[in-house]
Amino acid sequence: MIVLFLGGLALTVVSGLTLRGAFNRHMGPMIAAVVPGRSDMMDGGRMGPHVVIVDAADQDILFRNYRAGFLEALFWGGGVASLMALVASILLSRRIVSPIRDLSLASQRIAAGKYDERVQVQGEDELADLGNHFNQMASRLQQVEGMRQQLIGDVSHELRTPLTSIKGYMDGLMDGVVPASPETYMQIYQEADRLSRLVDDLQELSRVEAGAVRLELRPVNLVDVFSSVAKRLKPQYDSKNVQLETSIADGLPLLRADLDRLIQVLTNLVGNALQYTPSGGRVTLSAVRRGGEVLVTVSDTGIGISKDDLAHIFDRFYRADKSRSRQQGGGSGVGLTIARHLVQAHGGRLWAESNGPGQGSAFLFTLPIH
Ligand code: ADP
Repeated sequence: MIVLFLGGLALTVVSGLTLRGAFNRHMGPMIAAVVPGRSDMMDGGRMGPHVVIVDAADQDILFRNYRAGFLEALFWGGGVASLMALVASILLSRRIVSPIRDLSLASQRIAAGKYDERVQVQGEDELADLGNHFNQMASRLQQVEGMRQQLIGDVSHELRTPLTSIKGYMDGLMDGVVPASPETYMQIYQEADRLSRLVDDLQELSRVEAGAVRLELRPVNLVDVFSSVAKRLKPQYDSKNVQLETSIADGLPLLRADLDRLIQVLTNLVGNALQYTPSGGRVTLSAVRRGGEVLVTVSDTGIGISKDDLAHIFDRFYRADKSRSRQQGGGSGVGLTIARHLVQAHGGRLWAESNGPGQGSAFLFTLPIH
């Protein structure tokens, strides 16, 4: 309505101001006033066939009639134009208002916790873009909410197991059913240790998932990293009688990485390889250049990973064989989740390959060259 009003006002004022000038310019050449004593002015031959000769009073009447005609045309033209503009603007505003109203209702429902809310998207204009982005935001929120609930469930489950065990031992000790021997205290200590490692893992997990880990990217020589990891884990490898081999391609360039974090990732992978490789097996740590990246592989001759498990081992708290992992002193199942986040923070990828149970497995990751 405001647009219509302003348009009408401008049309009336501007045409009123310019009408006299326009009349003179367009009609002027066709009119010649009768000037007393100038008989040449009446010479129709020189002034052309369309010249109308009127006196000054008639000129005024001519202008007034001209203006009346103009106003009449303006009235009808303006009326019809306003009507059309009104209809068009009603249709257009409905087209805009109804999706916005939908979005507004949907966002209220999402704010109330109904994360499965989505809006219907039609067309390909800016409103459709807005609707699509809104739906993307809603599904991301739904995903995060799902993860949050799952995390709470997982964490309580993980906490419950060692706590139940500690409580069981304590009950037994109090009732005198369990002997107060060093073995009993050792079991309790181990369960408490599990709890404390779990809490450490959770803290680290929340940091990497929030992207709060600050990397100090520097040129890193993989030879140093490999030897540091090998040295750290050598005693455990020796005591389980598993061979640890390293091989680095000649002339491998420096990496752009955070040294401590890289050692953390490799220690996790090489430690896992030891954990899931029986005595007499072999673990190989190798690196080659591939395009603008370096590909690091940790492969073992261990228990392997089934196809189903391969799809999940990077999920939080996922353990292919929970009882086995627990017996063998395995972690809480977040080691690989953390490792993948750390590699991704470096701009690389981490994935696993295995031909199946009993066929060994390989963990591969890429890192950018310095
Ligand atoms: P965990 O602390 O249980 O080792 P991870 O996140 O490090 O947790 O590993 C998740 C799961 O992936 C493990 O429980 C195990 O089932 C599987 N896995 C990891 N490394 C290997 C490997 N080298 N061989 C076979 N399975 C493995």
